[in-house]
Amino acid sequence: MIAYLEQHFLHDDTNNDSLEPQQQQQPILQSMNLTGTIDTTVATTTSAATDFGNLHVTTPLAVIKPSNTHDIVSVIRFASQSQTLTVAPRGNGHSINGQSTAHKGLILDMKNNNELVKLVKKNGCYAVDVNGGMLWEDILRKCVGKYGLSPRSWTDYLGLTVGGTLSNAGVSGQTFRYGPQTSNVTELEVVTGTGDVVVCDHGRNSDLFFAVLGGLGQFGVITRARVLVQPAPDMVRWIRVVYSEFSEFTRDAESLITRKEGESFDYVEGFVFVNSDDPVNGWPSVLLDPDQGYDPTRSGNRVLYCLEVALHYSKGNCSSTVDTRVEKLLGRMRFMDDAIFQMDLSYVDFLLRVKEAEKQAKANGIWDDAPHPWLNLFVSKSAIEDFDRVVFKKILKDGIGGPMLVYPILRSKWDERTSVVLPEGDIFYIVALLRFTNPSYQKSPSVRDLVLQNHEIVQICNRNGLDFKLYLPHYNTQEGWKQHFGDRWSSFVEMKSRYDPLAILAPGQKIFTRQQ
Ligand code: FAD
Repeated sequence: MIAYLEQHFLHDDTNNDSLEPQQQQQPILQSMNLTGTIDTTVATTTSAATDFGNLHVTTPLAVIKPSNTHDIVSVIRFASQSQTLTVAPRGNGHSINGQSTAHKGLILDMKNNNELVKLVKKNGCYAVDVNGGMLWEDILRKCVGKYGLSPRSWTDYLGLTVGGTLSNAGVSGQTFRYGPQTSNVTELEVVTGTGDVVVCDHGRNSDLFFAVLGGLGQFGVITRARVLVQPAPDMVRWIRVVYSEFSEFTRDAESLITRKEGESFDYVEGFVFVNSDDPVNGWPSVLLDPDQGYDPTRSGNRVLYCLEVALHYSKGNCSSTVDTRVEKLLGRMRFMDDAIFQMDLSYVDFLLRVKEAEKQAKANGIWDDAPHPWLNLFVSKSAIEDFDRVVFKKILKDGIGGPMLVYPILRSKWDERTSVVLPEGDIFYIVALLRFTNPSYQKSPSVRDLVLQNHEIVQICNRNGLDFKLYLPHYNTQEGWKQHFGDRWSSFVEMKSRYDPLAILAPGQKIFTRQQ
């Protein structure tokens, strides 16, 4: 039956995805006897053909909503009996370059928001067991609402799934203290590319545990994760301070991330902005409240730097105690006089802060269907001044129509046994060029030009010998991937041959080709 499927539907050399007679495949796929659903309608396969990037279209054969782990096993075993079928676990599809798509393959729609969050206590530590398809925003609400507890390490935006971020790393302003999200899970349940259900942790099946973390979906489908939690604070003082000199910005940022807990802020990030009135790229992007004032004539520099920090506190703290702690921490820093913006908000609202930006972007038509040619890099501390000089101060001096994040992270907080690859040095910076485009705005540069500019930035880094690695990496050739992984490539390949020898999983990463 699967041979029939391949003969009639998969060997279509015209590559005209939109003309697939998808409905006819349904009966064959039904032979998997899933409890969940199989959807081959054009509307559904079309929506799973793209992602947040909106840069590529790769149409799958069907979108499967599994009801349980057994369904995932059945789908993978079904695909393994064919010669060409692939299976892409898809979280919230918030990749940029088609990483969660599968050309004429099966999409496992993992997103699932009605799963319970189960509290576990082991060796004196609290953790929650969560479904791999849960959105982090739902975990936040359930953990804080039900237990008064919270995961320790986050991403900036929480409309992402557990499986999606753990397949990369998951970084934000807490990473300097707790490491990425991949450093904050103690156990995983995974369905491997051979269709086996494996529970793994530091001691049990540890090779799979570490391979899957940052493993780009290559070794198995994450169906459950045990995430470390701690008491959730009530409130947050959210502060932004502005620097005119990059060296002072980095000095203060690095000082904050290397201090002991209790002697620093609880969250440290930063971004570059244009010294202008431009609502998206300039000073207005720094204000936490539109009523706050600013003065663009204060510095003659074209680009400025904003350090964004936050301090947790409990409702019982009186505001003067919080003020004193904040003043003490800020007192040692060298930002521009009076260039300080702050506000108090609940911990949950702070973590959901990007939700407001999402709402506005949706209303402006630049979130859902617009292209997002984003570029994310980890740049070594040794290279960050050069990067600033060549990229921020020259190529991107007029902004990118969205945030340009830059903040330091400590390497010691990362577990080098995971699949994530990092640049050299004890400190490296995350650089995130989060470009928003408005297709209806005539003066916008073309998406093609923006993609080319991303390539140019990567090439400049290479030509100047800057030490960096792509985060959320994307390469079209295996040679690119080999270079990315460097001396970790052979172990990555070895793990692939152990856990997904037919290369069924996550074909959208374009690392391996499906074997027969
Ligand atoms: P998808 O895009 O659906 O999938 C990503 C990859 O993971 C694919 O290869 C897929 O096959 C695989 N995968 C998905 N689910 C599973 C699973 N259950 N098991 C195994 N493999 C799986 N990243 C950060 O680190 N920090 C940030 O602050 C941050 N902010 C972001 C803000 C926005 C608006 C967007 C669009 C992205 C942001 N990202 C950030 C990037 C984001 O973490 C990654 O793109 C992540 O992979 C998206 O999660 P997702 O659930 O949408 O995954």
